[in-house]
Formats: sequence, C-alpha cells, structure tokens
Amino acid sequence: MSVSASGSADHADLADLAALLSDRSLDDAGLAALSDRAPEIPTLPGVSVVKIGGQSLMDRGRTAVLPLVDEIVAATAIRRLLIGTGGGTRARHAYALAAQLGLPTGVLSEIGSAVAGQNATMLGFLLAKHGIPVVEANAFATLPLRLAEVGAAVFPGMPPYGLWQRVPHEGVVPPYRTDAGCYLVAETYACEQMIFVKDEDGLYTANPKNDPAATFIPEITVDELLARDLPDLVLERGMLELLRDARHVRSVQVVNGLVPGNLTRALAGEHVGTIITAVPRGGGPQ
Ligand code: ADP
Ligand code: MG
Repeated sequence: MSVSASGSADHADLADLAALLSDRSLDDAGLAALSDRAPEIPTLPGVSVVKIGGQSLMDRGRTAVLPLVDEIVAATAIRRLLIGTGGGTRARHAYALAAQLGLPTGVLSEIGSAVAGQNATMLGFLLAKHGIPVVEANAFATLPLRLAEVGAAVFPGMPPYGLWQRVPHEGVVPPYRTDAGCYLVAETYACEQMIFVKDEDGLYTANPKNDPAATFIPEITVDELLARDLPDLVLERGMLELLRDARHVRSVQVVNGLVPGNLTRALAGEHVGTIITAVPRGGGPQ
C-alpha cells in the first residue's frame, strides 16, 4: 500500500482502502490504520458547545437560569454557540422508578431523552425572542443555517441512542447521558470548545457536596483522572472515555455557572474551572 509522507490519502490509498474494505472484516487492524490516514475536515470550526447542567442549573430555576440566558445572548455577539441541555432531578427520579420496575437500559435512555428535551423546550422558550431555536437531533442538518442566521441553537443533550443505548457493565443506568451527548456533538462537528456548566467550581478529588476534605483540581489529563479512580466524578465516566479517543476536541472545561461571568470568561478562552485534556493521539506533540 502507498501512503504519502504527509499522511494524506492519495489515489493509491483509496484503492488500498477500498480493497481492504471489500475483502476483510471491518475490525481488521490494517484497515483501521489505513482508514486513519486522511486529514479530517472540520465541519463547524469556531463553534463552542455549551452544556447547561440539568440538576446543576435548570433545576434551580430562575435565579440560576436567567443570568445564564443573559450570558448566552451576550456571547452570541462574538461566538457561535450550540447549547445542549442536561436532564437532572426528573430524569434521576424516572431512572429510579424504571430500574425498580426492572426495565432495561434502553427504556431509561428514552426517558432521559424526554427529560433533556423538556429542558431544551424551556431554555428554547427563554431564548426565542433572540431568534435562537431548539434543534432536535433529526434536524441537525439545519444547524449550519441556524448558526449563520442567529449564531446559536439549543439541542437536547441526550445522545439519541434510545433503545439501542449501550448496556453498562453493571446496573441499568445509561452510560452515555447528556455529558456524552453534548461532547459527541462537539467532537463530531469538530467544534472549537466544549464547556460544561455545572454548580461546582470544577473537578475535585471527591464530590464537594458530601466530602468537605475534597480539594480542587484545576487541570488534569483524562488518563490521570481515570487512573485515580475517584469515588465520584463531575462528568460522566463514559464521556471521559470518549474524550480519550477523540480526534478533534481534545480538552473540555467544567465551569461553575452559578458564578456570574464564568461562562463568558470560559468562552473567551480563559482558564476558569477545571480543564481536562486528552494526551496527544499516538503520544506525539499535539
Ligand atoms: P448536571 O447538572 O450536568 O447533570 P451532575 O449533577 O450530573 O451535573 O454533576 C455535577 C455534580 O457532580 C456536582 O454538583 C457535584 O456535586 C458532583 N460531583 C461528584 N463528584 C464530583 C467531583 N469529583 N468533583 C466535582 N463535583 C463532583
Ligand atoms: Mg448529570
């Protein structure tokens, strides 16, 4: 096979790849390596994805949500934003009920989507007078137009796996929830930033809500974080595993949305909160 020094896919690469694809299992190791050669073309560069936490923010009502709405609207003057929503307490209640009824992960996943959708509807109504729409996953093809027109769109953060959600190693709670869903939007469209807006200053060594000895971690690699095997995390573990293998969005930021101005500062590229970074793919420089 011929692969040019730059790693670009020339004509010979395409022929080799096509031959491998037709002859071998799609899990073939050589095929995976060859399919990795072409430089990817970012789809929505310069866009920031912002997840508004369900339990952290939406469930606190107007005192938490309205200041964030103002920050989002102000930010659209300088940045293009995709705003994903979490589920929160209502999703947790429904997960508990469904789990106690012996229902499978896929059903819990559908329920989680419905609740993230409710939060997207509410946030969308608050942003409507600024022209910012809610875009469901099945209408994502319209995102470029929305971003060009008004500079922002709201989406329900749950990834649309529905009944096909991955079954976890243990228990029935969907492993890929709204942190993962928002992150995957950023990664798939090769956006510039992924900011998680929560109700703590960032990542701590333990949940600061029930461990007063927890200490703040301003910056950490995802490998180091997973190796620490902390008792609880500010982001979904499944999302961190996705970050480890990411091609485009190689770091995420967690900020406290209860502190006015934090989101604005993070959107401006300031290090507020915690930054979690994936080590470079292949171990080379980024
Ligand atoms: P969301 O509002 O996006 O659903 P979650 O409630 O799922 O967010 O996650 C945020 C919460 O995670 C924080 O409110 C905090 O209490 C908790 N948490 C658990 N472990 C940690 C940790 N190690 N560092 C910081 N926060 C943590
Ligand atoms: Mg959560």
